[in-house]
Parts: sequence; C-alpha cells; structure tokens
Amino acid sequence: MNTYNVCLLPGDGIGPEIIAEGCKVLDAVGAKHGMAFDYTEALIGGCAIDACGEALPAATLDAAKAADAVLLAAVGGPQWDTTDPNRPRPEQGLLGIRKELGLYTNLRPVQIFSALADASTLKPQVIDGVDLMIVRELTGGLYFGERMRFYDEEGAGPGGSNGQRAFDTLEYREYEIERIARKAFEAASKRRGRVHSIDKANVLETSRLWREVVHAVHDADFPEIELVDMLVDNAAMQLISRPADFDVVVTENMFGDILSDEAAQITGSLGMLASASLGDGTALYEPSHGSAPDIAGLGVANPLAQVLSVEMMLRYSFDAEAAADDVRRAVTTVLDEGWRTGDIKDVGTPADKVVGCAAMGDLVAERL
Ligand code: NAD
Repeated sequence: MNTYNVCLLPGDGIGPEIIAEGCKVLDAVGAKHGMAFDYTEALIGGCAIDACGEALPAATLDAAKAADAVLLAAVGGPQWDTTDPNRPRPEQGLLGIRKELGLYTNLRPVQIFSALADASTLKPQVIDGVDLMIVRELTGGLYFGERMRFYDEEGAGPGGSNGQRAFDTLEYREYEIERIARKAFEAASKRRGRVHSIDKANVLETSRLWREVVHAVHDADFPEIELVDMLVDNAAMQLISRPADFDVVVTENMFGDILSDEAAQITGSLGMLASASLGDGTALYEPSHGSAPDIAGLGVANPLAQVLSVEMMLRYSFDAEAAADDVRRAVTTVLDEGWRTGDIKDVGTPADKVVGCAAMGDLVAERL
C-alpha cells in the first residue's frame, strides 16, 4: 500500500463542500487501487485573511511544500473585495502559492461528456469527440516582463493627446520554453500523441525562438509525437471550428490565457472543468471555477470539477493511470445515468435526478 500526503486547501465559499467530495472520491479509488492518503488541511484566501491577516500564511506554504500534492478548491468572496492596495486580497494566496511552488505549467483539459453535449453552444457534430488539453506557460512572457507608462518628451500627439506612452515587454528565455515543451510532450505521450504548438512566429521574435526550441526538444526526445505549428490567430478559429482535431495545445502565457478560456467555453459547463499547475516539485490541482459565494453553504454545488482535479492528481502526481481512468469512468457513468447537480440540469431533467453536492460525490464513489 502506497501512502501519499495531500495538502488540502478548501478556501472559501463552496470550497469546503466540494473538497470534501474530492477526498471522498480519492479515498474510494485509493481503496480499490492500493493507495492511501494522509490529509493535512491549511488555510488560504479569505478564511486565512480572517484568521491570520494574510491570504497565504507561512504555515500553509510549509504544509504545501511538505506534501506530495496540493488539492485546492477556490478562494474569494464579496466580504474580502477591496480596492485598497494596503489590504490583503484572497487571490494573493493563489498567486503566492503558484510562485512559491514554482508552478510554471498550467494544464487545462477540455473534454465533452456526451451526456452534457447540449450545454455547448456549438453544434453536436462539431463537439463530438472533443478531448483536448491546453498547456499554458504560467510564469513568463508578457505578464511578467518590464512595463512602464510615461510622458513622452516629444510632447502631445495629434488630436490634443497629452503624450502618454506605455509599454509591456514580451520576453522568453530558452530554458523556460524548453521545460514547458517537455511538459507538453510528456502529456501527449500519455494521450493521443499529438501536440499543436501555438505562436506568432511570422511577427514575434519570441515566437521564432519558441518554435526553434519546441522543435529541438521534440527532435531530441519525443520524435514519436506528432508536432504541428500553428499561428495563434488561426488557432483561435480552428479551436471552435474543428476542436476534436486537437490533442495537446502548448503555448505561451498570454496566448494560453485567452485560448484556454475560449476552449473552456466549448463544453459550456463551468462546474465540470479542472486544472493542474505543475512545476518541478509539488503540483497543485483545482477546479477552474471560483468560490461561487451565491450558492455557498446550500449544499447544491457541483463537485465534479473538483473530482476531475483529483483525477488529474492521480495521473500527474502519482502516476496512477488506472485509478485516474476509473475516476473518469465513474463520472461518465453517473452522468450517463442522468444524475445532475442544479448547474448542469436542463429542462428535461426529472426532479428526482437532480442531486446536491454530497449526493453527487456519493454517486461517483459508489460507481468506483
Ligand atoms: P464563480 O466561478 O465563483 O461563479 C460563477 C457562476 O458559476 C456563479 O453563478 C456560481 O454559482 C456558478 N458556479 C461556479 N462553480 C460552480 C459549481 N461548482 N457548482 C455550481 N455552480 C457553480 O465566479 P465569480 O462569481 O466571478 O467569482 C466568485 C468569487 O470567486 C470571486 O471572489 C472571485 O474572485 C473568485 N474566483 C476564484 C477563483 C479561484 O479560486 N481559482 C477563480 C475565479 C474566481
């Protein structure tokens, strides 16, 4: 029996409700596959601000660093919203833990559960078979480069402007591209073996370096993977015109930010989307949605994005492919049987098939 230490960060809003279901599923799949989990719970986000005055207390960071993996639910809520730069904000917990754990890769899978195909705004024949993964570089590029706003010495421009200028810098180092490319090829080798590398190499120098480095990593270590280069403007169109053709999509920080939100919309159901942030040490797994304060404490939240983040933890931190496949199969079965939480029900869902958060977790655990 292998025992793994999992740091739990329930956070705020629906966080505690959905993370409980994540653990329920983890324990159920562990019992079947000879794995046990020791949980250490810590504070992050708004609840940490209330208890300790900061969104990421040192004790939380220590617990996360000591764990084999971190399972996060969500942070935030209106009671902590502030525009005062001197007051702590829940999101500082998220950004802080990603930085401190060196999580430079964000994985966002987009998969259609056929039972939920109607939730998409795209035609059924377009989304049939969609199963793709966006691999976004998370700690470099335009969002981290030098930026400035200033008044131009040459003075006002035409039309009475006062001569303000601003710039942001898009910079990548070779090693930053190499390590994210490696993550993408590794992910593809566990999937259908195809990587689309998205850039703007016809215009940007960083993209030309990106393309060279991605090809070098591919040719040296992953020649069996199919590698396709695509310009970002074309990718934005192809993602919604033929999404089923994509397997792994790797791209830099800003392109990934935009394309992953576009790709998430293909499914149409926010409560179903999980994500993983990986570096070279402890990784972090979380749903893509927020803390849903409007339904917190009502027991009606959809725990499936959290459950699917557990699936990713099994796959990427514990190398437990069979267990991960079992979790996905159990979720698919529950949906195929017609069970729904409030957010994914439709007009035709019978009332006795609409269940709350804990009951949905029970169903997945029972099917396991
Ligand atoms: P949200 O994702 O929390 O909610 C958007 C809508 O989707 C709401 O109507 C909510 O009820 C619903 N929803 C979300 N997850 C659901 C689930 N699992 N089951 C059923 N319904 C669900 O986004 P928001 O309302 O813009 O933000 C609320 C708070 O969450 C804010 O404080 C925001 O800063 C924070 N937030 C946190 C994260 C994170 O922790 N990673 C991400 C986004 C937003």
